[in-house]
Amino acid sequence: MVNHVIPNTYLDALRYLSDQTFKVIAGGTDLMIQKRGTRETPPNFDSNMLYCFNLKELNYVHKEKLHIHIGSMTPLEVLLHHQDIPEIMKQVIAEMASPAIRNVATLSGNIANASPAGDSLLSLYLLNAEIVLESLNGKRVLPIDQVITGPRQTVISKDEIIKEIIIENPKFSKIQWTKVGGRRADAISKISCLSAVQIKNNKVIDFRLTLGAVYKTVIRSREIESKCIGLTLDQLKENKNTILSLYEGLIQPIDDQRSNRIYRKKVALNIIEKWIADL
Ligand SMILES: Cc1cc2nc3c(=O)[nH]c(=O)nc-3n(C[C@H](O)[C@H](O)[C@H](O)COP(=O)(O)OP(=O)(O)OC[C@H]3O[C@@H](n4cnc5c(N)ncnc54)[C@H](O)[C@@H]3O)c2cc1C
Repeated sequence: MVNHVIPNTYLDALRYLSDQTFKVIAGGTDLMIQKRGTRETPPNFDSNMLYCFNLKELNYVHKEKLHIHIGSMTPLEVLLHHQDIPEIMKQVIAEMASPAIRNVATLSGNIANASPAGDSLLSLYLLNAEIVLESLNGKRVLPIDQVITGPRQTVISKDEIIKEIIIENPKFSKIQWTKVGGRRADAISKISCLSAVQIKNNKVIDFRLTLGAVYKTVIRSREIESKCIGLTLDQLKENKNTILSLYEGLIQPIDDQRSNRIYRKKVALNIIEKWIADL
């Protein structure tokens, strides 16, 4: 028999998780679909379920000087309208699902679901997000790229919960979010690209680019980015083909029901090319 529990407090949630038989459910917008039964029957959960969405202790946004702390049960729609959330993250969230879904869906669900097409992940990789994982045994803080290890794979243990997401709040001169999907709303990305640059005195002093749905995880290459930093805008544009070929080496998409690998690679490179050309 499967137990369904709504914990009263965060500590209660950690206690339930400690027996390693419970699965956290946040907004349920992934889990309900993955575990759905036939029409008009309840979802077919195969483990005990811990409903954490109403835990007030995990619903917050705190801004500090350099970082923003986001409680793991804060709905995406709240983040979309929150004054302390960076514009670059808001642009991504605005194109996720629909308002109804965003009112319950969370960043932590997008992270733990670990889909290569998870849109918010691009903003989390770009903003050097750190994920706070906690259990009764203690706390660990890991960069997002160490939490997600592959499609639907994470290092989150059965007794752990994502407690908080910490993001940077850098200044950018220009940002670009491109989501290619089957329609404008409620569409899972075929390809996505989030890029940001900070230019000072005509020199690139920060360059970040993340790609979704074209590899096993979100792609972000600090190596390529470091080759762009320090260049003038003209030099960056002159080096466009070299930069493109470096990204091309990283892009390894798959064929699936939404798109195919040839289209995904071509379009991803077109997006990067246009981004550099338009700077
Ligand atoms: C109609 C529709 C449209 C959608 N559109 C998009 C879209 O445009 N872009 C996109 O990226 N996604 C989209 N999604 C997918 C989904 O909404 C997102 O992935 C969302 O962020 C999931 O959050 P959630 O809180 O609902 O996760 P849940 O379904 O509650 O959980 C998902 C997974 O995360 C785990 N989990 C959740 N919270 C925690 C936590 N705090 N600690 C540990 N594990 C946790 C759960 O155990 C589960 O494995 C869509 C879904 C639907 C139904």
